[in-house]
Amino acid sequence: MHATESFFDQVTRYFNDAARFTTYPEGLLAQIRCCNSIYRFDFPLRRADGTIEVIHGWRVEHSHHKLPTKGGIRYAPDVHEEEVMALAALMTYKCSIVDVPYGGAKGGIKIDPKQYTAEELERITRRYTHELVKKNFIGPGIDVPAPDYGTGEREMAWIADTYSALHPGQLDAIGCVTGKPLAQGGVNGRREATGRGLFYAIREACSHAEDMQALGLTTGLEGKRVVVQGLGNVGYHAARFCREAGAIIVAIAEREGAITNPKGLHEDEVFQHRKGGASILTFPGATPLPSTAAALEMECDILIPAALENQFTAGNAPRVKAKIILEGANGPTTPDADPIFRQKGVMVIPDIYANAGGVTVSYFEWLKNLSHVRFGRISKRHEEANERQMLKAIELATGTSFSEAQRAALAKGPDELDLVNSGLEETMINAYNGLRDTRKQHPEVPDLRTAAFLTAIHKVARSYMELGIFP
Ligand code: GLU
Repeated sequence: MHATESFFDQVTRYFNDAARFTTYPEGLLAQIRCCNSIYRFDFPLRRADGTIEVIHGWRVEHSHHKLPTKGGIRYAPDVHEEEVMALAALMTYKCSIVDVPYGGAKGGIKIDPKQYTAEELERITRRYTHELVKKNFIGPGIDVPAPDYGTGEREMAWIADTYSALHPGQLDAIGCVTGKPLAQGGVNGRREATGRGLFYAIREACSHAEDMQALGLTTGLEGKRVVVQGLGNVGYHAARFCREAGAIIVAIAEREGAITNPKGLHEDEVFQHRKGGASILTFPGATPLPSTAAALEMECDILIPAALENQFTAGNAPRVKAKIILEGANGPTTPDADPIFRQKGVMVIPDIYANAGGVTVSYFEWLKNLSHVRFGRISKRHEEANERQMLKAIELATGTSFSEAQRAALAKGPDELDLVNSGLEETMINAYNGLRDTRKQHPEVPDLRTAAFLTAIHKVARSYMELGIFP
């Protein structure tokens, strides 16, 4: 039906579905929807064998309503302009839902990183950064990249180093990119942030008794059957936190296939097994599934797509048996699948909220870089001393005394990881209840995704109106 619809068109469709519930002038909506700047460039790479290859790269800044713009860089063989545009647009809406003060952006390089040596990847990444610098598409106050599919801390360190070398003496240079290694200005907890954010999201969703009753589920994560698609940074940590909270990982899907075990899989054991190059299908003690797609159609409580976009279409949506879909990936559900899920009573926790933990902790990293001090460094000891005094006062008043172990546990000044995690937890819980309240106030809003887009549209619109552009 929508055979020629691109990923960006799909995001536009979601946007328009939500915009129906507003009365903003079409011009304002068009301004929010469009991509403000698109930069496409090609550059040569001399490969290890001496041949020259042309590398294709993009950076899209979707919205300049707040600066800097923010979003990851993807390395994948099928990256293309409309995909990067769609992902940049999702970043704008994502940031506004969790009140992270950025416009959305995204970058991409059309390569399969597995086909390149580390030296080649370094050259590609440094050259990509040069191209961004050349056109003013990167900087702590301009546009701040981060990891995405196919990139990680290593690439971010190369970007930070290249940018800093080109901006000698720029005090905030290290804030030009987030997701850096700890020793290069990264923040504790960024690596697992998206997965942890997904966990806070699902824990919050499962805590509302009336919502769970409507799905035929009990509250809490204990005993819930979870299927995870993708054991990358997002899926791995989401699986880990859910399992640690008592959920059972009944299936894991990866590129080469999927495995199931009704008694539960341990994500790290599966990860370690695959790391040596082994197929997931040979993981001992689990039953192989006929295909990755079969895992998406398994009987389960929570399904976490944490790979790439376009996983659920009108074709497979009718066969999905999960009660809750927690979108770890960006854009896993097409707009044709969404009404099918709605009809079946599946609760979809949408990407632009659910996977916002990554950019939230990126924001904390950027704040740390701009302030040039580790979170907790100044106040930790002071808080600890205050708490110890309070304990002493309690001992005096009650005549009891705490052991040193109790005192150490009760009077603990927060370190950086404590603060990052508590900031993330606060953000995810608040944002979820914001979406839930929107649905309560507007019963005509059919689902959480529409509520999420509606929330984002309101926030971005307000920001344009405050700028006096659309009075
Ligand atoms: N690539 C991640 C995302 O899609 C993180 C972006 C960021 O931290 O800026 O949300």
